[in-house]
Amino acid sequence: MNKQIKAFLIGGGIGNLAAAAFMIRDGKIAGKNISILEASALTGGSLDAGGNPESGYSFRGGRMFTTDNYECTWDLFKTIPSLVTKNKSVFEETVEFNELYRSNAQARLVDRRRAKVPVTSMGFSMDNRLELLKLSNADEADMGDSCISEWLSPSFFETEFWYMWVTTFAFQPWHSAVEFKRYLHRFMKEFSRIETLAGVKRTVFNQYDSLVRPLMHWLEAEGVQFVMDCTVTDLRLANDSELITVTGIECVRAGQKTLIEVEAGDLVFFQNGSMTDASSIGTMETPPVKLTKANSGGWKLWEKLAAGRPSFGNPAAFNSCIAQSFWDSFAVTLKYNPAFIDQLTRFSTNLPGTGGLVTFKDSNWLMSIVVPHQPHFASQPDNVQVFWGYALSPDRIGNFVAKPMSECNGADLLLELCGHLRFDLDTVQGAICLPCHMPYITSMFMPRLHSDRPLPVPKESNNLAFISQFVEIADDVVFTVEYSIRAAQMAVYQLLDINRHVPPITAHDKSVKVQFEAMLKSLK
Ligand SMILES: Cc1cc2nc3c(=O)[nH]c(=O)nc-3n(C[C@H](O)[C@H](O)[C@H](O)COP(=O)(O)OP(=O)(O)OC[C@H]3O[C@@H](n4cnc5c(N)ncnc54)[C@H](O)[C@@H]3O)c2cc1C
Repeated sequence: MNKQIKAFLIGGGIGNLAAAAFMIRDGKIAGKNISILEASALTGGSLDAGGNPESGYSFRGGRMFTTDNYECTWDLFKTIPSLVTKNKSVFEETVEFNELYRSNAQARLVDRRRAKVPVTSMGFSMDNRLELLKLSNADEADMGDSCISEWLSPSFFETEFWYMWVTTFAFQPWHSAVEFKRYLHRFMKEFSRIETLAGVKRTVFNQYDSLVRPLMHWLEAEGVQFVMDCTVTDLRLANDSELITVTGIECVRAGQKTLIEVEAGDLVFFQNGSMTDASSIGTMETPPVKLTKANSGGWKLWEKLAAGRPSFGNPAAFNSCIAQSFWDSFAVTLKYNPAFIDQLTRFSTNLPGTGGLVTFKDSNWLMSIVVPHQPHFASQPDNVQVFWGYALSPDRIGNFVAKPMSECNGADLLLELCGHLRFDLDTVQGAICLPCHMPYITSMFMPRLHSDRPLPVPKESNNLAFISQFVEIADDVVFTVEYSIRAAQMAVYQLLDINRHVPPITAHDKSVKVQFEAMLKSLK
């Protein structure tokens, strides 16, 4: 292998950061030969988090992991040193942290009377069980681009299982049945402990501080070049042979058009599509502005490349219906006022960081909140607390605010939340709530055909790989950090011909014990 090759990585999300690390660690490519071209001013893509107590902390998502899955993620982070725990890897630090703070949700579902819903039963009828069994045993080739509601009857969507599973993973009845089936298999171990979320693992801080920062630190020390404020607008492609070869990268860097020559043997990795494209953040006084792909341009390059090239996928399957792919989240910063967290702790009996999600199952918006272990930001002062929430039906009028969630400012969201909890508004006195609108957040769950997603390295590609939530990886599930990191590892190993195995997906669904536990659970 020619170690002098250069690699150009379009997009600075966790997928491409991981690709750079795999190239250096396993491909022995020099860091200085790797350039990451990122449209925004920050790396980390969807794994962002920032802010301060004065203007409020913001994080679009609060992420759950498992150590029973996430094989490629931990394979990577076993190599990356922690920035806070001396002589420990990020993986070791995470495992130790989760031994101290175990997920054991005690208020997973809360009803309209603010009563905790008993959740030991999944609430299935015999018909529901049979439908679920049929769906989980169906063949992907036969399922086509069917949606979940074509497989499950209306009563299924009222079961405790549905409320817990979909608020953990963010599915809707109109989403891809194939993806739902994959989740049932990939996370079968979570099925029997879904009511306590006992299998869920968290990072020490938010994922920007705990994953992106240490990885960036390692990559920078290796000499990787970060080119920020650089939007790639087109790729120059040659297909004089059977294979398509990228020969040039057209970009706009700090407002200036630039062409980067790609020489023979060089590699290009492209992050096609992003779940947080066109997302926007509001304030306590103003709702987030509503943007679309037309404002952001984040999908444009994939659309250009895929036009007339079926092996590069079909972005329209994912980004054509915001009404089916959007939801809103919010991040709350509580300053010098512990009343909200104190009351919630008394109600849920979960200390921060142990409760997983609290879902208001009868709320019109289907709203959930999560209180992480504090501090959630490396820089967070002692007398400041943060938590995160989201809702799967933000297009509906609220129960306590006569507006759809997507039209609410931060103050409206706090009013709605305190209404469901029957907490006085004093508990959030001085709080800063930052709403976030994400038009494509579940775009990767949209019904799809197998051909709608390119392979990480399409068959006709000579030097171009796709790394994202929108590539086809057999059996793995999207809306996970793992998926992007797995795509990165597969693409890098294939293009650099690395003689090391990508960690296989652990087949929990083939374990008789796991199957038996899931069956018992479904019978409760
Ligand atoms: C609210 C929320 C909750 C989540 N919960 C979980 C969870 O519980 N567990 C879990 O595992 N995962 C979760 N995720 C998913 C996880 O965060 C994502 O799957 C992952 O971060 C995606 O990473 P990526 O690198 O593939 O893409 P992204 O992070 O989207 O990065 C793509 C990057 O490419 C850049 N880019 C794209 N096109 C161009 C171009 N033409 N030129 C230059 N730059 C370009 C973009 O600006 C962006 O920075 C959640 C995500 C969100 C938003």
